[in-house]
Amino acid sequence: MSGNDTPEVVIVGGGPAGSLLANYLGKRGIHTDIYESRSDPRTDEQSHGRSINLALSYRGLAAMSPVGLTDRVMKMCVPMRGRMIHSKDGHLAFQSYGVDNAQAINSISRGGLNAAILDAASKYSSVRLLFNHKCTDVHLAQGEVAFTNTRTNESTIARGRVVVGADGAFSVIRRAMQKLDRFDFSQTYLRHGYKELTIPADRGSGFAIEKNALHIWPRRSFMMIALPNFDGSFTCTLFWPFEGANSFAAIQSKKELSRFFTEQFPDALPLMPNLAQEFFENPTGSMVTVRCEPWHCFDRAVLFGDACHAVVPFYGQGMNAAFEDVLVFAELMDQWGRDWGKLFREYEQLRKPNTDALANLAIENFVEMRDRTGSRRFRLKKKSEKFLGRWLRGWYIPLYTMVSFTRTPYAEAVRRARRQDALVAAGAFVVAVLLVTLLTAILHNFLWHC
Ligand code: FAD
Repeated sequence: MSGNDTPEVVIVGGGPAGSLLANYLGKRGIHTDIYESRSDPRTDEQSHGRSINLALSYRGLAAMSPVGLTDRVMKMCVPMRGRMIHSKDGHLAFQSYGVDNAQAINSISRGGLNAAILDAASKYSSVRLLFNHKCTDVHLAQGEVAFTNTRTNESTIARGRVVVGADGAFSVIRRAMQKLDRFDFSQTYLRHGYKELTIPADRGSGFAIEKNALHIWPRRSFMMIALPNFDGSFTCTLFWPFEGANSFAAIQSKKELSRFFTEQFPDALPLMPNLAQEFFENPTGSMVTVRCEPWHCFDRAVLFGDACHAVVPFYGQGMNAAFEDVLVFAELMDQWGRDWGKLFREYEQLRKPNTDALANLAIENFVEMRDRTGSRRFRLKKKSEKFLGRWLRGWYIPLYTMVSFTRTPYAEAVRRARRQDALVAAGAFVVAVLLVTLLTAILHNFLWHC
């Protein structure tokens, strides 16, 4: 810690974005205090309870590398090489994610990942971690942030040259920015909610279903997915409307729950011995898309991750995008040093169009996952994408590949995918015309000689 006890940067929120940013600032020797409302996940017993996981892909891993976290994090991952589609009749179909089977996204414990990144940040002498500190207010122009200690109820004020809001979708820092003139903000909730359930590890073979896959039970207006955990269990997430005849609200008894699972997920039901308890005890979460502009003010405060661009989880990119925010910011710091105002402007300019594109992609992918992944047409589309990706390597890159296995900016990936689709459609049309012309000529020739 430097002699002057006032930090240069105060980070509010020690989730994925805040904890990774602390590593980058620590590596540069920048005096940083990171305040987190929850207790320390490295020592807290509660965080070892329910196992909640998420998909870490290329962008997230790329952001781990410059601060030396890749190897540590990869050891905590279970690779998922593709989707395993579960039909109602028990039929299974595997669709690999990559153009070749080597490409995989990675299932990782949310708590374990967060603890590892915080632990790495704690090793820098210029970084201080303060848990159980809930931000209650902020004076953005002065860089003053008010906290309440959730254990002792004591209030403190922190001051920093820079205040970072990495405090998630319901950010207190963003809420303060919303009071400023000409600040745009929108939030949109899905009418679907989600509930986390479990397939425990199989005592004999470890994993009760295929280990290296993201499992999907697509049922048109709703779906369930399952991601593997290191201990052999799977965390399932049921996405279903909150209200209506076919919804969370419609299930009030164990009997109704059992009937619903028997009809919709008959192969999963026998693997879920704690279903009723988990279904009725676990909360039903909501999913929100947040958009706002600008992401910074007074050359003093700036937002990262869900605080400025929460997206629905269907592309598995929310956290990856939050990590990429940090990586892009760090790359800009290499260029501009600590010219904070300039950094904030460049960072927002680079990221905002891309996180807007991701927000749209994530909503579109919900429809694709629940409605289309089970259809023959979808399977054919994925096969032809793979074929083109392999044979036109470098020219044709499927959208999913660009999003999950490259750092192509999200907006550029969308534009490129549209161009590719138009070219493939035009190519298919030309081939069809040539074939018809050729067949007509052959037929004509044949008839002439008869
Ligand atoms: P958060 O993770 O929300 O972290 C914010 C931190 O700030 C928290 O630790 C919180 O305790 C703290 N905090 C909040 N308020 C205060 C306060 N007032 N004072 C102090 N501290 C505060 N993304 C993926 O990339 N892949 C996936 O597979 C994936 N799956 C998902 C599945 C579901 C069901 C959901 C809901 C999301 C999923 N996401 C996924 C998205 C991902 O969880 C988020 O994008 C990511 O956690 C954002 O990180 P963050 O650090 O910006 O915010």
